[in-house]
Amino acid sequence: MSAPCATYLAEAVGIKPVRARIIVRGIVQGVGFRPFIYRLASDHELKGWVLNSTEGVVIEVEGSTKGIEEFIANITLKVPPLAVIERVKSSFLPPVGYQSFIIQASQEQEDKFVLISPDICICPDCLRELFDSLDRRYHYPFINCTNCGPRFTIVKDIPYDRPKTTMTVFQMCPSCEEEYYNPSDRRFHAQPNACPVCGPRVWLVDGEAAGDSLTDGEEAITAARHLLRRGATVAVKGLGGFHLACDATNSAAIALLRERKYRVNKPFAIMSLDCQAVESYCHVNDAEKQLLESPQRPIVLLRRKADSPISASVAPGNSYIGVMLPYTPLHYLLLERRGDETNNLALVMTSGNMSEEPIAIGNDEALERLRPLADAFLLHDRDIHVRCDDSVTRVFDGKEAVIRRSRSYAPFPVRFNFEMRQVLACGAELKNTFCVTKENYAFLSQHIGDMENLETLNSFEAGIEHFKRLFRVSPEVIAYDLHPEYLPTKYAARLKREGVQGSSTEVQFVAVQHHHAHIASCMAENGVQEPIIGVAFDGIGYGEDGQIWGGEFLVCDFQHFERRAHLKYVVLPGGEAAIRKPYRMAVSHLYNLPSALTSGLTLFDRINPVELEIIRRQIERRLNSPLTSSCGRLFDAVSSLLGICDVITYEGQAAIEMEMLADESVEDGYHWPLPRGKFPIAINQEHILRDIIHDLRAGVPITVISAKFHNAVAGMVSEVCCLIRERDGLNRVALSGGVFQNVYLLKRTLSHLQRQGFETHIHHQVPCNDGGIALGQAVVANAKVTGPELKRSLYVLGSTG
Ligand SMILES: [Zn+2]
Ligand SMILES: [Zn+2]
Repeated sequence: MSAPCATYLAEAVGIKPVRARIIVRGIVQGVGFRPFIYRLASDHELKGWVLNSTEGVVIEVEGSTKGIEEFIANITLKVPPLAVIERVKSSFLPPVGYQSFIIQASQEQEDKFVLISPDICICPDCLRELFDSLDRRYHYPFINCTNCGPRFTIVKDIPYDRPKTTMTVFQMCPSCEEEYYNPSDRRFHAQPNACPVCGPRVWLVDGEAAGDSLTDGEEAITAARHLLRRGATVAVKGLGGFHLACDATNSAAIALLRERKYRVNKPFAIMSLDCQAVESYCHVNDAEKQLLESPQRPIVLLRRKADSPISASVAPGNSYIGVMLPYTPLHYLLLERRGDETNNLALVMTSGNMSEEPIAIGNDEALERLRPLADAFLLHDRDIHVRCDDSVTRVFDGKEAVIRRSRSYAPFPVRFNFEMRQVLACGAELKNTFCVTKENYAFLSQHIGDMENLETLNSFEAGIEHFKRLFRVSPEVIAYDLHPEYLPTKYAARLKREGVQGSSTEVQFVAVQHHHAHIASCMAENGVQEPIIGVAFDGIGYGEDGQIWGGEFLVCDFQHFERRAHLKYVVLPGGEAAIRKPYRMAVSHLYNLPSALTSGLTLFDRINPVELEIIRRQIERRLNSPLTSSCGRLFDAVSSLLGICDVITYEGQAAIEMEMLADESVEDGYHWPLPRGKFPIAINQEHILRDIIHDLRAGVPITVISAKFHNAVAGMVSEVCCLIRERDGLNRVALSGGVFQNVYLLKRTLSHLQRQGFETHIHHQVPCNDGGIALGQAVVANAKVTGPELKRSLYVLGSTG
């Protein structure tokens, strides 16, 4: 407690009663906070009121000094499970003689904002009621309370009240109303409160017939369970969109779904009833179990067991499976063990979309778009306002490392220890998320997707408008990627031409280099502001020289970066084509090696001679073929050279399949000689490619070659960082970029760096892939616009801790 407040309290002692005004900020709306305050006030015999405002929860209490002091202390001590308190501010006032404690109607102020709770999985109390045959919500698929249920995905505006959610169309029945207005009830002011009498309902529709309802209620769920067991694909409406579900042990069903969805190899996520079921097919450690069972219920990447009954075609060529536990009551009803039926061990639960389109959220939209994919549709009439894919995460070194930050994570903010301008960062082209900032918060959006089609672009634009409204942001700064062809960059260019809706001040536009954004993102989430060595390894990012970067060593702070080293440029023969066909990258990487060394490699037998000739000509004449220093493309080249993957059907496939084969027991790597004395260093990869070819010819197993290659990259990173440390005197290293999703590489790179005495930073809260770019763009643009002013304030913040 600050000094002036304590003084006032001391003065107030003896004067009875006193009144306090308290403002609580954080995630305090829609999480049972007001009833909690109501009960707390009555425990301490205080009178007054509580209300939700756009500023947070505002409380006035009147009573004894002691009672009020204890009350304030207990707000943070006894906080309800889903609430996250950011700040409690209190001031003391003369008493006005309140007679009771009441919950007042919500108040709005245009420029203020509140934190909005993400969606939360069904709580233990509701789950118990769901399976209690005597409960009035027995088997009701929309059961929820103040401690659980939909939030962000049904919210249209703030403050969070039923009329501003998609639940507004359901009139509560007398029983539900009684709960809703009873402060001692678990459903007091639970905005999505509903029951079988008054709330949303579920029904089953045949995929063939034109939208005819087959059956509804419990029968619909039972029928869907039967269909799934018989190998059918059912489109299931969830919390943030539709899933396509089928039996994860049925290879024929999965093959058909892959064919219909045009998804050849990209892994499918699966869902099982509980950890016990998951442990029958995957290795699950304590940290992973905790993550699986967390209220966020993300998809967790787990190592599959050798004798797993899960079909191999769930995740071809991958030793990990993405697994989640049920998070809605409907999921539980689909997966529960029933005495009279065999249980579905696990269901494929993949996004309800065709290939890379956005996930479907509306009933009509789903019936139209998903008809070719699903045999039946399990629909409901609680509208989804915000599209939100499942989050994907993993445990790395005992801690969570998010890969896709979406449902139940967004829009929970990333916090800074400094104030930000109001920035809109448009993000990257692939795995797009955008970001808006206000005060010391960054609101990173849910996963928007690959910006390759009109539907995704629309979803991106609608998302930005929604975030601006929810968080009362009117951007002063717009940050975007340097790449002129990226759709988010074009969006920013359009705003520049046409003006930004809702912004009164003059808006500044700041282009941010892709890899600088990656490193800044990693710095921001780790609270690092001082200059750092940044290693950004990814597939493609537009460089300042107009070439495609992706194997970069930077020295940077938020404002500036300098390129200290990069992989030596090679040609990207045919541009896009070289990304889809790793064998093109192999040809390019081997191009300058002596033909005596490369001739007779099986790689060349697998390429059509006509195409091979075209590739060689593209390399020589640089037709439609930029230069690249991409590390992702080097992994592609080696993967193809080893005969692991020549053509990819999803991003990162060649590198992932090579990682899966890398022998964990191999410690040594190829020697990677580095030039000395001249910066930026061009790191020549030819030497290790020669060694790989020698090993290939000598019949060394590819599991060993893959391991030695990974170890060589890890060793090289550490050596280059040592050279930069000699030059710049920096001892901190941040690792970012999609290549570091490779756990084999990340683990070994960290251990090399730590052996050399470096302090290392990696991503945990935001993805290291392009899904984290927007956060980096925001802090870089903010720093560029704020300039030296920021540095001063950082110094002050740093000195006070
Ligand atoms: Zn509940
Ligand atoms: Zn009801």
